[in-house]
Amino acid sequence: MSDAIETHQTELRHFAPSSEFVARANVSDSSLHDAGDADSETYWAGQARELLHWDTEWSKVLDWDPPNAKWFVDGTLNVTYNCLDRHIESGHGSQVAFFWEGEPGDERAITYSQLLEDVSRCANALKELGVQRGDRVAIYMGMVPELTVAMLACARIGAAHSVVFGGFSSDSLRGRINDAEAKIVITCDGAWRRGGVVALKDIVDEALLDTPTIEKCIVLRRTDHGNEMTDGRDIWWHDLVDRQSPECIPEPMDAEQLLFILYTSGTTAKPKGIMHTTGGYLTGVTSTFRSIFDIHPDEDVYWCTADCGWVTGHSYIVYGPLANRATSVLYEGTPDYPDKDRFWAIVEKYAVTILYTAPTAIRTFMKWGVEYPGAHDLTSLRLLGSVGEPINPEAWIWYHDVIGGSKTPIVDTWWQTETGAVMISPLPGLTTLKPGSATFAMPGIGVDVVGDDGRHVGIPGGGYLVLTKPWPSMLRGVWGDPERFQETYWSRFPGLYFAGDGARYDDEGYMWLLGRVDDVMLVSGHNISTAEVESALVDHHAVAEAAVVGVHDPTTGQAISAFVVLKNDHEPSKALEKELRIHVGNLIGAIARPKSILFTDDLPKTRSGKIMRRLLRNVADDETLGDTTTLADPGVVARIKDRYLSVDAEDDEVDDLEENQK
Ligand code: ATP
Ligand code: MG
Repeated sequence: MSDAIETHQTELRHFAPSSEFVARANVSDSSLHDAGDADSETYWAGQARELLHWDTEWSKVLDWDPPNAKWFVDGTLNVTYNCLDRHIESGHGSQVAFFWEGEPGDERAITYSQLLEDVSRCANALKELGVQRGDRVAIYMGMVPELTVAMLACARIGAAHSVVFGGFSSDSLRGRINDAEAKIVITCDGAWRRGGVVALKDIVDEALLDTPTIEKCIVLRRTDHGNEMTDGRDIWWHDLVDRQSPECIPEPMDAEQLLFILYTSGTTAKPKGIMHTTGGYLTGVTSTFRSIFDIHPDEDVYWCTADCGWVTGHSYIVYGPLANRATSVLYEGTPDYPDKDRFWAIVEKYAVTILYTAPTAIRTFMKWGVEYPGAHDLTSLRLLGSVGEPINPEAWIWYHDVIGGSKTPIVDTWWQTETGAVMISPLPGLTTLKPGSATFAMPGIGVDVVGDDGRHVGIPGGGYLVLTKPWPSMLRGVWGDPERFQETYWSRFPGLYFAGDGARYDDEGYMWLLGRVDDVMLVSGHNISTAEVESALVDHHAVAEAAVVGVHDPTTGQAISAFVVLKNDHEPSKALEKELRIHVGNLIGAIARPKSILFTDDLPKTRSGKIMRRLLRNVADDETLGDTTTLADPGVVARIKDRYLSVDAEDDEVDDLEENQK
């Protein structure tokens, strides 16, 4: 990675925060950064004390026995007391915690007081079923308010939740239930998706055919389409939860009590059961949510479009926002139902001020066209966020101009399931932005880019992204697999956390994420990042999305193979293919020109919307496909493979023809 080539594909536009934004920002000077740099343990202890209520103060901030960390040793607190009770005690019980919008158009406004009652009832129900501290509860639901209630109910009584995204198959659900040895599963009869019903309970029934640890299954009625109930095992939510007392004492938990297990998206490998605990995690998400999203609880309406099945939903729909007493929007469905303007209709309806979404969604909106956001009043928006993949400058500018009315800062937040909270991000009232750069480390977080030798690469320079210091919301391990924990994250560079992503510093020290190191291409001895070539392709006006991979090549070692999705009003052609090659060459250099370009209607993505390049690599190298269980649409790879093979054959024919004419 150390010789990653320098690129100059973006106009070096800088966006300084406006004086209007700075005037009311939670963070507008460098004092947090200074405190974090001076002594990160003292900094985090300060954040923990200032932002949270502790029942017992810790005796030691950090006990660090690499790779095992304990934060706030001997401290005790209750997560839900911090997310709910204390806001009610301070007079905010009637504030809305969630504006929930169902896909069919039904809606509910849930106040902090109501949420606490629901959580307490659900917690009492779990207790009645014999759930105890340390037990694991699997949650497999659509995006209904009861999903957040179920998570918080576990936290209230010290059970660990394992939320499994409601789009996963019965096999994936069963695997996760068995890995975590969950005792209870909470689900819905069904979920609404694009106007149809996804029969979640049927999928659960299938999964539960072989889950020896499951004792009970709680079923929330949502779609009411009719489903089986197994006697002795299945209980309706309304029969069990509704009759419980709305009071449940928030017992103090040890700071290191397991809060949840969450499996990674599985973009690069078999998902890992990442463990997060109570005190450090809540400190990390509460502190970062406040500074990055600049939350003003009495004024803002915040909307994170992620699903609670991903870490983004855990940290920035549930725990971070509630601990900060935010008012959030929660949406059940897809962005294109009933039409492609649903998100913008929601922004307008609730006067959303802060919107947090993913580059894959933004590129889809670009492809659909400006008429959809254009049909709505989006002037309430004052801050935008991005997470999940590198955001290419083209998409950044579109997001800023079309959605943000050319006035909103964008926080591009880099983090992982493992990090629990955001590690790299601008602070919107302080940082001068550059489109496509996640900018700098968060206060109190040690980030660096190192070469093969584990040493800082210098500025400018490219290499591997590492975290240099323990942080409060760090993963405490991989569930049931301490070796994989050590091996995956702590073995590559002694003393450093290896994130698995490539990154570079530009000449001003801004950080640019370059995608997974597994995906980096080696062409004629040069390391070329997938993110940069993809970004150059998407920079072309005809291109909506692109994925590139390195394939074996006898002369150059690897050659770049590109998979390109065109915008709605463009057609594939040989001429366009040539034009794209030239375009990439002009932006990055001839060496980065894709050797082959395949036009396709779709790319293989995980259920969280990330491109799975390893599968494209398998296609291009004609190898068998690896684990595909986390793919959103397994058919996509097969279709691409068919096209790839037929186009390859066509190309050979053309080459043969040219050969013969010589
Ligand atoms: P697995 O680890 O099983 O392969 P995954 O890494 O896709 O799954 P997540 O934890 O959901 O699972 O994703 C974290 C990854 O997402 C990061 O390592 C990084 O590659 C990418 N990512 C997240 N945010 C950003 C961002 N703002 N810029 C660039 N990349 C990002
Ligand atoms: Mg990962």
